Amino acid sequence: MLDLLWLLLPVAAASGWYTAKWSEEKSTNNDIPNIPNEYVKGINFLVNEQPDKALEVFIRFVEVDSDTIETHVVLGNLFRQRGEVDRAIRIHQNLIARPNLDKIHRATALLELGRDYLKAGLLGRAEGLFKEVIAIGIQKKEAHQHLKELYEQERDWEKAIDNAVSLQKMKPLKQNGVIAHYYCELGGQAKQNQQLKIAEKMAKKALSYDRKCVRASILLGDLCVEKEDYQTAIKYYSNVFTQNLQYLSFVLPLLKRAHEENDDLIGYQGYLQKIHNDHHELSSILGLIESYRERGDVQNLRVLLKEELEKQDVPLSLLRKYIQYVIDNDGYGHPEVFCCIANALDHHLDAQISHQCVRCGFEVRGVFWQCPCCHGWGTIQPRIENKETALADKHYSV
Ligand SMILES: [Zn+2]
Repeated sequence: MLDLLWLLLPVAAASGWYTAKWSEEKSTNNDIPNIPNEYVKGINFLVNEQPDKALEVFIRFVEVDSDTIETHVVLGNLFRQRGEVDRAIRIHQNLIARPNLDKIHRATALLELGRDYLKAGLLGRAEGLFKEVIAIGIQKKEAHQHLKELYEQERDWEKAIDNAVSLQKMKPLKQNGVIAHYYCELGGQAKQNQQLKIAEKMAKKALSYDRKCVRASILLGDLCVEKEDYQTAIKYYSNVFTQNLQYLSFVLPLLKRAHEENDDLIGYQGYLQKIHNDHHELSSILGLIESYRERGDVQNLRVLLKEELEKQDVPLSLLRKYIQYVIDNDGYGHPEVFCCIANALDHHLDAQISHQCVRCGFEVRGVFWQCPCCHGWGTIQPRIENKETALADKHYSV
């Protein structure tokens, strides 16, 4: 009941005239005031805990005229927020059906009805209404924003691009990064369909919108791997170093694979060494340790481990590498003890959240190009304390 009462606040506000009228009549006339039957009926339904019927009555009670249109919009929106989309649709449809509705109110009602349809999953209908709002020329930005959400849901990336370009024209908020992701989506689809030329074109289009688009560089690298052109793949993958170092843990395994195919692990080690010198990034340290280990370079491995373990706040992943070093060297006579420690560390590392959305804080394991929570594009990034390359490798997909 309480729920319903707060919902009826706007109705009460709209019928404020009634109270005023009643008081006025009371002061001049001692007769019982003329309370509208509908209002009494509504109250009765409320008292008898029949909220659905009460709402129906109140909706009829608030007559649609220029003073109560906003009230209807609010009432409809409240229904939608409560998940009662059918009711919201009915209210907004009734508004639109009114003759003589001015342009501003018509645009508002169409926009709200579109939002109802969007929530109900009736995307085709919602799209038509948002386009109508844009044609009217009022609340265009809002309509474009809703179309953005709609096309993303439909995964209709071509329409999403057109819409984002229009949105960009009228808004100071930049859409370039988002448009680049849409092109990457198209590129990813083309790659899946083995349309490698189209995929390449889309990835380059993405870079033309956002030259820092890591995803496009990775896609271009992947396309070169498909064509067995590992040298060019390495060039594209290494672009990520200048685009956004946050994605280093993501791109290093790809870069390593391309170097392996190219039979050039020394070249890979050179990349790691350079990043380590320039940025002292954990992924590059872990990669370097692994690289020394694989090549049997015990001398450099020992020096690097000692140097890193003497620092403060040693990451778990680095400790894990150290334990591996000990195991590889007969575990100081107690290999089983160090194997147990290694397992325990693996368990901790597996349980760690590897990535987080920088916009909403949503935590995930692995890279998502669009945040499942706030729907931001390119906002999920590896967490600083855990840049385990293996994890990024496991969850990779364009
Ligand atoms: Zn988010």
